[in-house]
Amino acid sequence: MISGRAIVHRLHEHGVSTGAMLGVSAWAVAVLAAMLVERFAGQEVTLCVFKRVTGSPCPMCGSTRATALLARGDVGAAAVMNPLFVAVVAAAIVWGVWMIVRARTARRSRAARGAWMSGPWAAAALLVVVGINWAYVLWRGN
Ligand SMILES: [Zn+2]
Repeated sequence: MISGRAIVHRLHEHGVSTGAMLGVSAWAVAVLAAMLVERFAGQEVTLCVFKRVTGSPCPMCGSTRATALLARGDVGAAAVMNPLFVAVVAAAIVWGVWMIVRARTARRSRAARGAWMSGPWAAAALLVVVGINWAYVLWRGN
């Protein structure tokens, strides 16, 4: 049995900050609340501040609807809604499984940890990916 504290401790070990954990948790709660309101009030809820202010979708717009589609098992429709979000969820699942597998098998080498996701190339690649997704979301009109 894995306790919540053990999970938090493990995430810390893997360089995930408390702020990031709280942010993701708060976002998950907001998405759940939005899904419930949409379901019972039949009204679409815009969580996005960017969209409210500018009237245009941000790169992650459609994530709430994509989450609802994922929850229903409709991965294809979720990917059409926001491909970047679905890719991030898939990567998080793979990372989580990888973390559990690594924790069970061997002691990880600390030097190798996270090296591939730092540096200017990773930042540039991330910007390009977010930019492409934003163009797609704008084109789609999320
Ligand atoms: Zn948005």
